[in-house]
Amino acid sequence: MVRLVAAGIGLLVTVAAIGFGVVWFSPAAQDALMRRVVAANVGGNVDVLDEDALHVVLCGTGSPMPDPERAQSCAIVYAGGKVFMIDSGLGGWDRLARFQLPVGGLTGILLTHFHSDHISGIPDIALNSWAAGRRDALALYGPPGVETVAKGFDLAYSLDDGYRIAHHGPEFFSEEGAAYLPIVVDVPSRDSSVTVYDEGGVKVTAFRVSHEPVDPAYGYRIDYKGRSVVFSGDTKKDGNVARFGKDVDVLIHEALADHMVHMLEEGLELRGDRRAKVMHDIPDYHATPVQAAEIANEAGAKLLVYTHIVPRLPNAIAERVFLRGVSDVRSDGVTLGYDGLYLELPADSEKIVEHDLR
Ligand SMILES: [Zn+2]
Ligand SMILES: [Zn+2]
Repeated sequence: MVRLVAAGIGLLVTVAAIGFGVVWFSPAAQDALMRRVVAANVGGNVDVLDEDALHVVLCGTGSPMPDPERAQSCAIVYAGGKVFMIDSGLGGWDRLARFQLPVGGLTGILLTHFHSDHISGIPDIALNSWAAGRRDALALYGPPGVETVAKGFDLAYSLDDGYRIAHHGPEFFSEEGAAYLPIVVDVPSRDSSVTVYDEGGVKVTAFRVSHEPVDPAYGYRIDYKGRSVVFSGDTKKDGNVARFGKDVDVLIHEALADHMVHMLEEGLELRGDRRAKVMHDIPDYHATPVQAAEIANEAGAKLLVYTHIVPRLPNAIAERVFLRGVSDVRSDGVTLGYDGLYLELPADSEKIVEHDLR
């Protein structure tokens, strides 16, 4: 029996070696393999277009700190044929492409504020949604100042836009699609929200959060067919997230583990690295994982998902340190977000179906 198994394994190894040899030396075999790989990678994840659910995908759960596992702030919501991104940091487009998510029908980008890690990916999204079929100007919603961001990107990329249109033709890249359409969302008072968008059953509202000296900074809520998601944006612990996130299905909340960032500060200080000052300063305008859990409880959110994870969590032990104390506050309904987390919320139901697109 042992001899038979050994012979079987030997045969498999021989076949694999011959197969590898054929591909290695034969251009025709290489091309056939390449075509198969391409075919498997140019499909589209069309499940998110099903109009009987609210679909939420995280395409960036990191921060300005370098992190090979996490792109900067990026989320995308599909509902009733509308497509909204919430912030667009560096690397977000890479994730959307990797997960084969459709962007040609992008309705607009909802910007929470204008820190670099929330806007630096906009040009990539603009170009690739344009290539995927967006014909009109890309709508950028945000606090006052969004006109400056739009004007800046417009100017910086005007030469590139010209090259693209000249090379591929205006039939493919429409002139209008090269432009941005900044839409200033009126600054709500602290105790009210404003309607940003209300069409086809999709309602987007904005509310104030606390990220001083960045002010105003917004959180957003999206409601569709009885399902809802709230994005805290960047904020320290703010009761407004609970107030406007009342009974929300999914709360996507930023989190910075101050106990870990203090260790980074100490380490940098010991080396005489001036960036210790940055580590010292940042905890005061972000929320800790425990504080975000308290807000989720106050809101009555069904599921809390952490995003904008600071610092980088390279392994399970770091994740455990990050989440220290959370289970004492909230034992259930907590997920550490990751790039590729896809939450499907079927219409008029209580279900939250979690998919991993990685
Ligand atoms: Zn920020
Ligand atoms: Zn940020």
